[in-house]
Amino acid sequence: MAVSTDGATMVIDAGVMFAGPELPGVDLLIPDLSYLHQVRPRPTALLLTHGHEDHIGGVPYVWPLIDGPVYGTPLTLALVRPKLEEHGIDPGDRLVAVQPRQRVRVGDCEVEFLRVTHSMPDCVALAIHTPAGTIVHTGDFKIDQTPIDGQHFDVHRFAELGSAGVLALFADSTNIDRKGFTGSELEVKDAFEEIFTTSTGKLLVTTFASSVYRMQILVDLAAQFGRQVAFVGRGMLQNSEAAQRLGYLRLPAGLTIRDSDVESLPPSKVLCIATGSQGEPFAAMSRIAINDHRFVKVGSEDTVVFSARAIPGNEKPIGHVMNHLARRGADVIYEGIKHVHVSGHGSEEELKLMLSLVRPRHFIPIHGEYRQLSQHARIAGRVTAGVTPAVTVMLVENGDILRFDEAGASISGKAPAGRVLIDASGSGEVIDEVLRDRRHLAEDGLIVPVVAINKQTGGLEGDPDVVSRGLAQDAASAELLRESVKLLADVIQGASIEERTDQGLIKEKIRVELRRFFRKRSGRRPLIVPVIMEV
Ligand SMILES: [Zn+2]
Ligand SMILES: [Zn+2]
Repeated sequence: MAVSTDGATMVIDAGVMFAGPELPGVDLLIPDLSYLHQVRPRPTALLLTHGHEDHIGGVPYVWPLIDGPVYGTPLTLALVRPKLEEHGIDPGDRLVAVQPRQRVRVGDCEVEFLRVTHSMPDCVALAIHTPAGTIVHTGDFKIDQTPIDGQHFDVHRFAELGSAGVLALFADSTNIDRKGFTGSELEVKDAFEEIFTTSTGKLLVTTFASSVYRMQILVDLAAQFGRQVAFVGRGMLQNSEAAQRLGYLRLPAGLTIRDSDVESLPPSKVLCIATGSQGEPFAAMSRIAINDHRFVKVGSEDTVVFSARAIPGNEKPIGHVMNHLARRGADVIYEGIKHVHVSGHGSEEELKLMLSLVRPRHFIPIHGEYRQLSQHARIAGRVTAGVTPAVTVMLVENGDILRFDEAGASISGKAPAGRVLIDASGSGEVIDEVLRDRRHLAEDGLIVPVVAINKQTGGLEGDPDVVSRGLAQDAASAELLRESVKLLADVIQGASIEERTDQGLIKEKIRVELRRFFRKRSGRRPLIVPVIMEV
């Protein structure tokens, strides 16, 4: 999201999404950034609300488009820094740490940071004081009245802003479809206490690497129950170190051990906190589950806890990892079995409370699927019915340009919006054509027709061959391949001498003919890659 006035443009958060199996070979999705290239005034600040991947994962991609500082709380910036380093970016002095209630100037605006509670420490909402009025952006939040770190949601400041007058409120809608209140992070402590009391073997817990509160609860219980703690997996190690260095994670001295020491201790003396809560194939828990981790093993005495929500689309891989662990005899515990996870997003009552506190002139639901935005809009209508001056509820989608002026608010245009696919192996953006090829490969396999052609005469040398990958191993496919070899010979024979001695032409001819053949005969569209050897 970008906010522009006559004198300034600032960008709020820069996140990524993770790709599902429908996008083979794609690691990340970032938003289409072309609007940021063209917007005037040029962006001079990036404002970060908190350190979750869907808010900071895209910072290295947005970085070059911002002529100025990146503001965030210390923990958020500590999580951003290694991402920049991975991309070879030296942040210099552009990462500027801010504290709640602090204000910074961006062009003709003042940006104020407000403490909110969420599933990790150091999260803020934004109040952007523009010449046209104050805009409040909640970021991700819930109202946790017993925060693990004692840092409370700043109800007072939200209420003050509300009574001073707010032009527009942009509010998180993720959990609008849950009744009541979400509940405190502290709630999971009871379930874990029970697990610590009853487990006799090794205890392994997987959660998001950014879930510092969850880490704190686990570390405290480990100290209480006499278990040593190993952080397993790169993200978990990195984040626990950063959180500890900055004072967000309090670790008693001598409590932690390295993952290489896990097997040398009695199982009842160990707690592993591991990455892999989403079933990511290379993460620690997925490796442990298939007995492929260098140091950490799991057996029938052990307990494994999944203390995270499944991001939609990840249910299958997570289920596989759980099955592997269960097959090794481990006691596998997840949300459905015990209360080992609580959401970081406010439910209906918290979202209503936010509206009542801020009392904006315009209300815009954000964060969530369209059905959640529309539900949030409907509920906002109920909450604000009869309020004077009236609250205008606006339902906008990605790309909509919302304009506030003397006449009120309106959708004044559409910016290019969509997603850019990133292959994190280093090749960068994945274009549609590449994706199409990958889908063909995944669904319909690969056909490689191989022919040798005499450079002088254009005649066929030896027998042509067709190599296949990913085709069904049955009689029908074998027959199809045999026929395709015959067809290949016919295509070469039927081609003119010019075609035969022109690699480009003959390849295209082979591709067209074989594509037609396979589509007609099998209904499939394998990727066809002709190889011509000139002899
Ligand atoms: Zn978040
Ligand atoms: Zn989020």
